[in-house]
Amino acid sequence: MSLIVQKFGGTSVANTESLQVVAQRIIDCKNKGNDVVVVPSAMGSSTDELINLAHELSSKPSPREMDMLLSAGERITMSLLSIHLNSLGYKSISLTGSQAGIITSSRHGKAEIEEITGERVREGLSSGNIVIVAGFQGFNRDTREITTLGRGGSDATAVALAAALGAERCEIFTDVDGVFTADPRVVNDAKLIEEISYDEMLEMASSGAGVLMARSVEFGRRYNIPIIVKSTFTNNKGTLVTEKTMEEAIVSGVTHNDKEIKFTLYGVPDQPGIAGKFFGALSESGINVDMIVQNVSKKSITDISFTAPVDQKSDVEEILSKVSKDLNAEGYDIDENVARVSIIGAGMKSESGVASRMFNTLGKNSINISMISTSPIRVSCVINRKDTKKALESLHKEFIS
Ligand code: ADP
Ligand code: ASP
Ligand code: MG
Repeated sequence: MSLIVQKFGGTSVANTESLQVVAQRIIDCKNKGNDVVVVPSAMGSSTDELINLAHELSSKPSPREMDMLLSAGERITMSLLSIHLNSLGYKSISLTGSQAGIITSSRHGKAEIEEITGERVREGLSSGNIVIVAGFQGFNRDTREITTLGRGGSDATAVALAAALGAERCEIFTDVDGVFTADPRVVNDAKLIEEISYDEMLEMASSGAGVLMARSVEFGRRYNIPIIVKSTFTNNKGTLVTEKTMEEAIVSGVTHNDKEIKFTLYGVPDQPGIAGKFFGALSESGINVDMIVQNVSKKSITDISFTAPVDQKSDVEEILSKVSKDLNAEGYDIDENVARVSIIGAGMKSESGVASRMFNTLGKNSINISMISTSPIRVSCVINRKDTKKALESLHKEFIS
């Protein structure tokens, strides 16, 4: 008997009608003779609504209480789904992350899965249940606290569970037909990708393709779990994320991230150890620094620019204002009107001139580039946010369609 993990995202479980569609998918999988573990997200945009409620009452709610609050979203879905499956005559049991033995680090709001004991999941399966595990949450042994895994974290729950339980595959059901060559809600010509490697998917997810959380792809790659991304509402085959694909396209996808902002620290002494001190302070506070550019000037002072998620703006600002004084810097600046566009493709490794083609395409469209970063299979440019759609469409046209 095979074990399959099925994850359903927020839109797929937004109301009781959708929950009935989801239940049918689970039943179909079970009736084919599989053991099924289900990971649901919170209903619709309820996580956002819970965050808004907290901010109506406090400008800086405690991270512990936020995790208590947000973990409730997935608990609602898991129990409703189980109630419905039971009513249809199927044995099922719902478990919170901590009941399922999802052990995480202690960092509230961004905890990392360290281990999955999974005893109650195995027990539930062996007594014939469909086991439903609340996504996005876990438990830390030292602090004895409930944690959450960061936005989109149910994907990580699902793939990590698939690895821990030795599942045959992990199916991620969402509101689009799979992974596309660009966000299909922004680029009309975006095409469904039938197969993509973990490496490329990881670069796509970490540079803005929100269809999968990057950490879920990391789990898939580490434990070699095939991940299938497909729609809850259509019967399309979807996208297989796997180790090797038949063909390595020069550019497989174009992504964007407009949820980051750019910070610049001006007039910092150009001395050894300064960058270490500065970025050390940011990483100790859990800031996810992304692109970094340092300019060296002739007068032994320099400017350092970097991007970080917009929801960490006030934390970054606090550190910037302190470090700026400590390092005797001239000051700092925040630019919220930026976006990052990236091209990703494994075939880039053996093809020269891809980066310059990207810069030329942006240039021809009068789009200014303010920062650049690369990996062996990705080139990213920070541009003005208002140019995002134009940049994506022109890059997609140049490299894909
Ligand atoms: P879920 O709630 O099911 O987890 P998400 O909203 O997290 O769904 O992810 C699905 C969304 O990801 C799609 O609606 C789509 O707009 C967005 N997306 C961004 N880039 C891509 C891409 N390259 N391929 C498919 N979807 C993408
Ligand atoms: N409900 C959480 C979120 O909205 C986790 C998830 O949906 O994956 O981010
Ligand atoms: Mg998601």
